[in-house]
Amino acid sequence: MKCRVCRGPAVVDLRQHNANFCPDHFVKFCRDQVVKAIDEHHMMVEGDRVLVAVSGGKDSLAVWDILVDLGYEADGLCIHLGIGDYSTSSARYARDFAQSRGLTLREVPRADDHGMTVPEAARVTRRVPCSACGTSKRHIFDRVALEGGYDVLVTGHNLDDEAAVLFGNVIRWQTDYIGRQRPVLEAREGFPRKVKPLVRLGEREMAAYCIIRGIDYIVEECPMATGNSHLQFKELLNALEVESPGTKHDFYHGFLRRASTRFAAETDAGADGLGECASCGAPTTAEVCAFCRLVARVANAGGDAQVSITAPGSGAHGG
Ligand code: SF4
Ligand SMILES: [Zn+2]
Ligand SMILES: [Zn+2]
Repeated sequence: MKCRVCRGPAVVDLRQHNANFCPDHFVKFCRDQVVKAIDEHHMMVEGDRVLVAVSGGKDSLAVWDILVDLGYEADGLCIHLGIGDYSTSSARYARDFAQSRGLTLREVPRADDHGMTVPEAARVTRRVPCSACGTSKRHIFDRVALEGGYDVLVTGHNLDDEAAVLFGNVIRWQTDYIGRQRPVLEAREGFPRKVKPLVRLGEREMAAYCIIRGIDYIVEECPMATGNSHLQFKELLNALEVESPGTKHDFYHGFLRRASTRFAAETDAGADGLGECASCGAPTTAEVCAFCRLVARVANAGGDAQVSITAPGSGAHGG
């Protein structure tokens, strides 16, 4: 197996690109894909202050690494979700990475936020843990990015994540979600610009990138993810990809090119009635935002207020 570029020994084969790469040229390939995604979707420009949501997983650490290498001033943000050892451990990976490269990692300490642990919120709401987790992460990411004066919030969602989310949204015809599923969400009152620079790279590539770059990351999946439909959709798409390399790319990027704008109106319509949360000031269509309602529910149910949102997590979905 020879590198497509230098003909040296290759260590990675990318069937969907019909190409093999040596370590150096694979790293260059990954950076080039990120640059292409940034340029194609106008994600950010030189000089932007960037905040990367970091979970300690391969994707968020890889995208942080790549952006710093590309010359962006990028800090990390990790939120403690109170998911037992998983949260403790993922925070440690994020911290170690930041320290080893002299980067700034912002941690949202437990006492600073009135959130709750994800397992506790799931128990009280009787909904899947990812629902409370997503609400908490979005709220805290937005707040920290805006308060910190960052121009853009980066998440580590990769092609596999985005294709699986799109697959799930299409199966259920959740057209408002489909309309919102873009690699860039522009800033608006109360929300920072949010971008996903890894949309041209899959999980396998990100794992290989981390190994080649010596990035130590948390390998275990979030224990709350077990059995969730997102993972099942990923497995289905993986099966298709084995038979027909490039399927995920064609599905997701074909959607962006040909269909996403057709659903935009459904999402934009909901943005008109935004007011301020009576409790925290965050933008919301209700009197009190979803996060504050969640916190109140847990508190009313006797949840212990030491609650979470302390250390890390862009989570299994883009971590
Ligand atoms: S799988 Fe992801 S979204 Fe779900 S609880 Fe874990 S970290 Fe949160
Ligand atoms: Zn090479
Ligand atoms: Zn609120």
